[in-house]
Amino acid sequence: MDLKKCVRVIEDFPKEGISFKDITTLLKDGKALKYAIDQIVEDLKDKNIDIVVGPEARGFLVGTPVAYALEAGFVPVRKPGKLPGEVERFEYDLEYGSNILEIHKDAIKPGQRVAIVDDLLATGGTTEAAIKLIENLGGEVVSLQFLIELEDLNGKAKLEGYHINSLIKY
Ligand code: 5GP
Repeated sequence: MDLKKCVRVIEDFPKEGISFKDITTLLKDGKALKYAIDQIVEDLKDKNIDIVVGPEARGFLVGTPVAYALEAGFVPVRKPGKLPGEVERFEYDLEYGSNILEIHKDAIKPGQRVAIVDDLLATGGTTEAAIKLIENLGGEVVSLQFLIELEDLNGKAKLEGYHINSLIKY
């Protein structure tokens, strides 16, 4: 299946110069959604994943069905002030702007095998922040999974040494 055809590209969103990859058109296509989740699950199924981590907000949408299929747990990484328990926090730069991400301190136990799942890899800042949060808690980041990778932004350079799988490349 050509998943790229299911992504809608919107120019100058959320601001001028950004060519936004809109995954809502993929999510509303039942066959495409199942195919995409199945592809990620296939790549992760022999990696003994304990926990899938998904960054807010689109990482929740892609990460949770992957966790369900693997019988792994799902842990959200969220913007500041959203998680009610004690948190670990990390600040980083985005493709547009900067951000802070938080994770519950008790979300991951030392030694647990973790996959990060998100909709899109751009500069790698979000994923790098998620890696730092997970590793600070003692988790082992085993794999990084994305629906989309923007290759020109070279996020991979920030994530050297980690296993990366992306389904659609621009
Ligand atoms: P990075 O931190 O790698 O620069 O940016 C990736 C994060 O920004 C992801 O969490 C993703 O949701 C969001 N993002 C950046 N650009 C786009 C885009 O064009 N489309 C979508 N769907 N998300 C984007």
